[in-house]
Amino acid sequence: MEKTLQKRGIQLASMCCMCCKEEESLNHLLWHCNRAKDLWSWLCQLFGCNYDFEGLEQALTKGNNFSSLIRDLWNVGVLAVMVETWKGENKRLFEGERFNSYSCSYKVRWWLRAAGKLSKGTFRSNPLYRWFYP
Ligand SMILES: [Zn+2]
Repeated sequence: MEKTLQKRGIQLASMCCMCCKEEESLNHLLWHCNRAKDLWSWLCQLFGCNYDFEGLEQALTKGNNFSSLIRDLWNVGVLAVMVETWKGENKRLFEGERFNSYSCSYKVRWWLRAAGKLSKGTFRSNPLYRWFYP
């Protein structure tokens, strides 16, 4: 229906298909949609910090509170959540799959493990260590 109206030149504001509550935009999808907020909250819990940011700059600035190794991992985590949210949304749009937060968080963990293995730092005393060497 919406696409039919748009083909006829009638512009409608698209609603976010993940939450159906807000107008769809990249900013909403990555930072304000409840689905994205769940992932940000999960990432913050993993790193033991508060979830109190609403955009990339604020999220990356939060990494300044960590040691250099953890800051690098945090930055990877932030980018990974953004990429996996975007990919999850594209799978929903183009392949008809439901957005799967668990799948996204699993992939973010993979990014973090890969970044940890590439890192030269040591972090055996950090709680994140168990994720890299279970
Ligand atoms: Zn939404």
